[in-house]
Amino acid sequence: MMKRIDQPTDVLKGIGNETAMNLANMGIQTIGDLLNYLPFRYEDIRLRDLAEVAHDEKITVEGTVHSEPSLMYYGKKKNRLTIHLLVDKYLIKVTFFNRAYLKGKLSPQDVITVSGKWDKHRQLITGQDLKIGSPQTPNADFEPVYPVKGSVTVKALRRYIIQAFNEYGDDIEETLPGFFMEKYKLPAKKIALQNMHFPQSQEEVKQARRRFVYEEFLYFQLKMQAFRKFEREQSEGIGQQYDLQKIKMFIQSLPFQLTNAQKKVVNEICADLKSPYKMNRLLQGDVGSGKTAVAAIALYASVTAGFQGALMVPTEILAEQHLESISGLLEPVGVKTALLSSSVKGKKRRIILEQLQNGEIDIIIGTHALIQDEVDFHKLGLVITDEQHRFGVEQRRVLREKGESPDVLFMTATPIPRTLAITVFGEMDVSTIDEMPAGRKTIETHWAKHNMLDRILEFVEKELKKGRQAYVICPLIEESDKIDVQNAIDVHDVLSNYFHGKFKTGLMHGRLPSAEKDEIMKAFSNNEIQLLVSTTVVEVGVNVPNATVMVIYDAERFGLSQLHQLRGRVGRGREQSYCILLADPKTDIGKERMRIMTETNDGFKLSERDLELRGPGDFFGKKQSGLPEFRVADMVHDYRALETARNDASMLIEQKEFWENPDFVPLRNYLKASGALSGEKLD
Ligand code: ADP
Ligand code: MG
Repeated sequence: MMKRIDQPTDVLKGIGNETAMNLANMGIQTIGDLLNYLPFRYEDIRLRDLAEVAHDEKITVEGTVHSEPSLMYYGKKKNRLTIHLLVDKYLIKVTFFNRAYLKGKLSPQDVITVSGKWDKHRQLITGQDLKIGSPQTPNADFEPVYPVKGSVTVKALRRYIIQAFNEYGDDIEETLPGFFMEKYKLPAKKIALQNMHFPQSQEEVKQARRRFVYEEFLYFQLKMQAFRKFEREQSEGIGQQYDLQKIKMFIQSLPFQLTNAQKKVVNEICADLKSPYKMNRLLQGDVGSGKTAVAAIALYASVTAGFQGALMVPTEILAEQHLESISGLLEPVGVKTALLSSSVKGKKRRIILEQLQNGEIDIIIGTHALIQDEVDFHKLGLVITDEQHRFGVEQRRVLREKGESPDVLFMTATPIPRTLAITVFGEMDVSTIDEMPAGRKTIETHWAKHNMLDRILEFVEKELKKGRQAYVICPLIEESDKIDVQNAIDVHDVLSNYFHGKFKTGLMHGRLPSAEKDEIMKAFSNNEIQLLVSTTVVEVGVNVPNATVMVIYDAERFGLSQLHQLRGRVGRGREQSYCILLADPKTDIGKERMRIMTETNDGFKLSERDLELRGPGDFFGKKQSGLPEFRVADMVHDYRALETARNDASMLIEQKEFWENPDFVPLRNYLKASGALSGEKLD
């Protein structure tokens, strides 16, 4: 039998076919949907003393109509109704546009309640809402406002919800386990819904919201944790029996001592390699925190276990640099490394492909060329991708499927705030390098207005005269690659004139063929070019220790994490380095962002602040954010609840009781329906 609450909305009075369709358009099909349709804000309908209300604020007042309202027509159908209203001791004006019918309903001495925007200077309310008589809901201080679509009005929706609640409220079923409601003192669902729809106080809304936030996170995390558990247990990974002695000796042979943070993450990764489960781990660490060394150790471990390793990076320059540093570390211990990118061609390419297939090459480093069909491995054991957010999910999957069931490590230098990490990467394990190698100089960061360019160029010249090099990053206009390139060309023209005869300048942008990009980068690396004008293509990875100045045009257009990445191009050598942000931000947030950059060199702090200021949608860039959407919860502001829910979910999923106790039926049913238990994709 159908549950009463699952009946279509048109069983309610006043809802006919058409309204039911309109509601369905808003995702409301059943009585249950209607009851669960939550307000997104509340309107303050407390009556207030006019003297206390600020200009342009929205207010509700009760008053007495003072004289006959006047109606004025202008244009064909447009009109304005003006009411003189006596509110306490003040005589104010109220206007309504295009609501001529109100005139006939109002006469002097009527008591009315009006809501609208208060123009303090003109002592005028631009009316939005009018009720004859005193406020109808004398108990409540505010009214819920719902998102509506089409011809459904908020008022009508309120009426439907009141009716639904009166007739079906008792049928609302609990969806949170009693155990957690008790533990966190959360209101039951029926009470929480009642308090969201008809609150008597702010506190009631707060408590109700707390419940829905937790519930939403718990369901979400449960799905993630179930998926993670499934991935670990169902997919047969390889237990890599590496040679611990060799690894220890290799670590000893490094030109530096590992930081404690590096040791910690090396241990986490090695434990994963050895376990029979497939590793699915994110390694994050600020620029320069020493991820490459960690990657080299992991790759070496895999090689000592008799497997091959692959390291995939987003650009050719980066691939070459990684090859250089990794082969520098690994060739001495007898590991054969090679590079594969689209510029490796002909015979050379054939040989590499052959040696990959027969296992002569131990470690291959390359761009997305690694995921082409022609690439076959002998025995792929470990796949590492650097700057993983630049590769799509699909590319990551293709690479992973090249081996039998290789372990996978994603590296990123964009520290991901914890709250995002456990949401977006909730199905992954996360390792964090949260410590810098000792003795790093902090980069001095300054914020300057564009009209100070002359002084900045003088400063750049001074540094170049000392034998140093500089980067100049051009404005970024995301919508148009073409404009980006033009900007870079223009800036380069100006600067090459300025430094003409003194220093050599170079220009780099995304439209150049990659061979040319490589050439320019090499020339800069060899100090044949002293000043490099570039778009953000230099953002990731490149290492030119002699460069000490980074100038960024229109810095306010960049994300903080991106600015931090760019800044990370300098400060890589012994000398003091500088980052100069050219920016004329118009908004307070923009100014705040520039200020933060000058105050901290800590990538994690920056990313947390960036997330707060810009919100999760902008954090990764709109296109590939992959962020889940929550109805009530906000993963930035409610991050504590998110963490709690994650812990609860991962505990639950491991317990026998969860699969047996009737308290968990709604959660279990949800999991079954979500596909997470069969390893189907997550949305
Ligand atoms: P990331 O890839 O995290 O940006 P790298 O691995 O490129 O950082 O390391 C940056 C620099 O620091 C390299 O020159 C590397 O040799 C050096 N380095 C790495 N680990 C340490 C350490 N523990 N102590 C000193 N220097 C280190
Ligand atoms: Mg790196």
